[in-house]
Amino acid sequence: MKPELGAALERLPRLELAQLPTPLHRLPRLSEELDIELWIKRDDCTGLALGGNKARKLEFLLGGAVAGGCDTVVTTGGSQSNHARLTAAACRVAGLDCRLVLDRGLHPENGNLLLDRLFGARVEFVADQEPETAVAAMEQLRQRLEQEGRKVYMIPRGGSVPTGASGYAAMTLELERQLSSLDLSDVSLYLATGSCGTHSGVMAGRAALGVSWRVQGISVSRPAAQQEDRVLQLSNETLTHLDLDSATIASDVHVDDNFVGGGYGHPDNRTWEAIRLLARSEGILLDPVYSGKAMAGLLAHVREGVVPARSTVVFLHTGGSPALFAYASEVEEMA
Ligand SMILES: *Cc1c(COP(=O)(O)O)cnc(C)c1O
Repeated sequence: MKPELGAALERLPRLELAQLPTPLHRLPRLSEELDIELWIKRDDCTGLALGGNKARKLEFLLGGAVAGGCDTVVTTGGSQSNHARLTAAACRVAGLDCRLVLDRGLHPENGNLLLDRLFGARVEFVADQEPETAVAAMEQLRQRLEQEGRKVYMIPRGGSVPTGASGYAAMTLELERQLSSLDLSDVSLYLATGSCGTHSGVMAGRAALGVSWRVQGISVSRPAAQQEDRVLQLSNETLTHLDLDSATIASDVHVDDNFVGGGYGHPDNRTWEAIRLLARSEGILLDPVYSGKAMAGLLAHVREGVVPARSTVVFLHTGGSPALFAYASEVEEMA
């Protein structure tokens, strides 16, 4: 293992928010049922405010906000955004004010949104769901806050900029240590690809470490080609941000968009089946927006033989289960 990645990460300002390392453990019943060696990396257990992947990104993002002397954070997402919930919580830890510009989703007053309010974040909604509308509203809010004399730190949707993606480059160091100590090699890593910071950070770390993991993203929203382009670009921007020479190449970036269902936040039956299967076989909660779709993709790849029998797969559980409460009637129907 090359030491450069660890040293590069240590140069960045960072705030301790997550309980690390998260567990990596085997799923014994599902491994038997699927005839693969299935492991799960528990980033649903990052510890901060019901956990999830955004805690890793926020360590570097809010580290930057604090180092820059900012007092207020502005970010955006859907009304059920896990990123918004964890930003609201992390701002309490960092002593910062949190302002959220949310696109109204289908399930406005439960789940993550309820928790945003509990953390005292000030929420404003924008009427339509075009990402540009939220970006414009964030910019207006920034100007108002700056006129009040505040120093504002802006975090784009999902925290998917090189600073945030660095959190997932850091995760690869942690995972590589865990895999080595368990003597696991030739692994495929499955994860949900949304705003792409997680996938990009993993690809950046993979390139920097020179490991051969096959990384498979399952899109939760956009078409595969768009997601692959974003991951390639953000991964290489992250390596540049870390001042590392390695690069990600296009042929290593894989996204499958067959599990998007009805679009962002609209799961189909395969997602619900995956959620039910993990709950019933392993007592693990997935979510309808991200991890349920990613698991639906993995299950289909196993059944189609894309994942060979007895091969080793690591499922990156990125969290999201608070959103289950915003989909209560669907959960009831499926259970
Ligand atoms: C944000 C999120 C993802 C996707 O991560 P990106 O970095 O946006 O691609 C996956 N799972 C959960 C639960 C999330 O909240």
